Amino acid sequence: MKVTGEIEVIRQERWADPKASWGLVPTMGYLHDGHLSLVRRARVENDFVVVSIFVNPTQFAPDEDLESYPRDLDRDLALLRDCGVDLVFIPTNETMYPEGFQTTVQVSKITRLLEGRSRPTHFEGVTTIVTKLFNIIQPTKAYFGQKDAQQAIVIQRLVEDLNQHLELVICPIIREPDGLAMSSRNVRLKPAERSSAEILYKSLMAAKKAYQNGKKDADELRKLVIDMIGEEPLARLDYVSIADPSTLQELSILGDEALISLAVFFGDVRLIDNMLIP
Ligand code: AMP
Repeated sequence: MKVTGEIEVIRQERWADPKASWGLVPTMGYLHDGHLSLVRRARVENDFVVVSIFVNPTQFAPDEDLESYPRDLDRDLALLRDCGVDLVFIPTNETMYPEGFQTTVQVSKITRLLEGRSRPTHFEGVTTIVTKLFNIIQPTKAYFGQKDAQQAIVIQRLVEDLNQHLELVICPIIREPDGLAMSSRNVRLKPAERSSAEILYKSLMAAKKAYQNGKKDADELRKLVIDMIGEEPLARLDYVSIADPSTLQELSILGDEALISLAVFFGDVRLIDNMLIP
């Protein structure tokens, strides 16, 4: 496994055999089984696998957790070695944003909804860094998690709109045994908050069950989730959305497909989760 922060080294490795297929898994590190599920899938579907680890400062607002975002590079590299990864790209901030940097990539409408409402500068940071990674690595396929459902939709839009020459693969959410979606941020929860955080999955499941039992009114389903989260003293709801999975427009009546998503604070830790219906 080759580890480098140099763009030139990435390009040399990538193009050593122009016929070889390459799978890219972009991450911010502090890897868990959710990340590794993407890596394993990339391993099966490509000749070579490259993983990037970069805590991208431009997708964090000044009041967010950039400084306290968990990091453990040695552990990450050991996990990636075990998964048979070929190349790890760990650039510095200076490599990705050298002096004079002034270009950004913006997806307009769908980035203003859901996460974009609470984090107005977030997606511009994401789409810019993802475009840079695509341009540096030029992967055959790139792997993202359904855990960040809106991110997956935004990146799909970006790839289509800018004619990026690659295939996106969106992988299912990997959860802890109690249902909590794996996240690098889970480690920042205090023990009582960690127990309370079960409520995310529980409330999503309750909404799905109510839908399956015939409840199609989106406001009623939103209220069900809001009430369940409201009963958890340590949880502070940011938003609940029940939206069309392709446009992210809020629904009033649920049809065949819906994306229920939510963001909840526990102390200063902000967790997101979602569930597709059916
Ligand atoms: P991050 O390091 O949080 O930026 O995540 C890197 C990639 O892993 C993103 O595409 C995430 O959607 C994906 N990911 C994170 N957590 C999970 C999870 N629990 N299950 C599946 N994919 C995940």
